Amino acid sequence: MDVLSHYSSPVIEFPASQPLEKQHTLVDNCTGTDPPAASSDASTETQRRNNVASQTEQTRLATGGSGGTCDERALAKWLRHICPMVEQELMHPTPMMDEQTTSQGRLEKEVNVHTYQKLSMGSSADNSLGVGLAIWLCVQTNNAPVLVATTVAPHDDWCEHVDQQLKLFVPQRMSHGNYVIFNEAKTLALKSCLRSLCTNPFNKNIFAGSTMDGEIFVWLYEQLRSGIGVHTVDPNVEITQLHSVASPQGAAVALDWVSEKHLVASYANGALHQWVMGKVMTLDWEYTLPPTINSEVTAMVVLGLEDFVLGTNDGGVYRCWSNGRQNAMNPKHLQLMALRRHRFMVSTLLKTEIDGHQFVLSCDLSGQAFYHDMQHVDEDAAQLSIQIPLPFKSVIACSQDGNIIYCPSNDGSLDYYRISDGAHAQVKGALRGRGNYIRSSDNGCWLITGLYGDEFQIFYVEQ
Ligand SMILES: [Zn+2]
Repeated sequence: MDVLSHYSSPVIEFPASQPLEKQHTLVDNCTGTDPPAASSDASTETQRRNNVASQTEQTRLATGGSGGTCDERALAKWLRHICPMVEQELMHPTPMMDEQTTSQGRLEKEVNVHTYQKLSMGSSADNSLGVGLAIWLCVQTNNAPVLVATTVAPHDDWCEHVDQQLKLFVPQRMSHGNYVIFNEAKTLALKSCLRSLCTNPFNKNIFAGSTMDGEIFVWLYEQLRSGIGVHTVDPNVEITQLHSVASPQGAAVALDWVSEKHLVASYANGALHQWVMGKVMTLDWEYTLPPTINSEVTAMVVLGLEDFVLGTNDGGVYRCWSNGRQNAMNPKHLQLMALRRHRFMVSTLLKTEIDGHQFVLSCDLSGQAFYHDMQHVDEDAAQLSIQIPLPFKSVIACSQDGNIIYCPSNDGSLDYYRISDGAHAQVKGALRGRGNYIRSSDNGCWLITGLYGDEFQIFYVEQ
């Protein structure tokens, strides 16, 4: 019965080129050397493969000619089937346990990250369900940039938090040792919670914020005189509001700068606005995602002039760019290309450069991160190049060379991963709560994570 079932298996799709009796003998031989499996599971398949091998070999020996072409076709078919699996295994080998542990020890030694300072936001309200926003501005002293931070209360719908605050923390050199300490230097009253914050990379004294009630502010940080000593509120620094504009689109979910004077605001409904900072702030152009994409925009980065990447709440990642010298046209027409999509909401989009190539790093709520190569504007070439799972991590920051990914973890700790060898390391924290925000300074030396109750955690990365 077993023999018969083997004989009539799909293997026999190759035309027989020898007498039937001989084939019977062949099958019998196989069965003879290989005792039949007790149960018909995986081992049955192995045996079936044996049959293929014996048959092809036998055919080649017996006839050649037309039989030969058949064999080659069968071989090619088999290779086509097996090659992707072999390739897959070679590209993502299963790491050995001890290999992982040694690379972890090495990563901790090579990239030394340690907790540096906790920042209390000093708010009386319960922020245990709230989130934090913080950005790094210009470098002040000892490679340490000025920091702007705020808390955002949990929202059901409309923001009714009319006494929100934006706090400025200025690093000051300690009188002893080569240390700096971040001191609260200024507090700015806000009439509504902020939705997003963004430093102007072309002039890091300037930053923009969008509020829940639909306003966009542009602020300037100024150091009036070089302050000496430690103050709780520094009289020598100032935050000046340069512009404010109200948008009927609601709260901008993301802001980014195209130049020192051009700010792009991205809205959940797929609208993109470019503003010009002149004497006043004016709308330069607007663009709306085509109706075929009926998901909410959750993240955006500017790559260049009329060149953006957007992330959506259903995991979509899209590049939008203008390919021609079109004149001021409202609404704008942009090319749109779908990049490798996530399964969950895109929480983070970051620009980075690897070996001189521009990449956009995207991360979703499940902790799956993709590196998208941006050097191509053609659909096949621009797809995913690296995919890494970061279990239970929803937001990320990355090192200057794109090789290290940092994620805030529970209770103020920080996890980091090296892409080149898969090494993982952790810095223990001493706060309570679940981190949902992280931002790296441009020089890669500082990280801020939050919000843990009412506190942010600053980390220092030894270079
Ligand atoms: Zn609010």
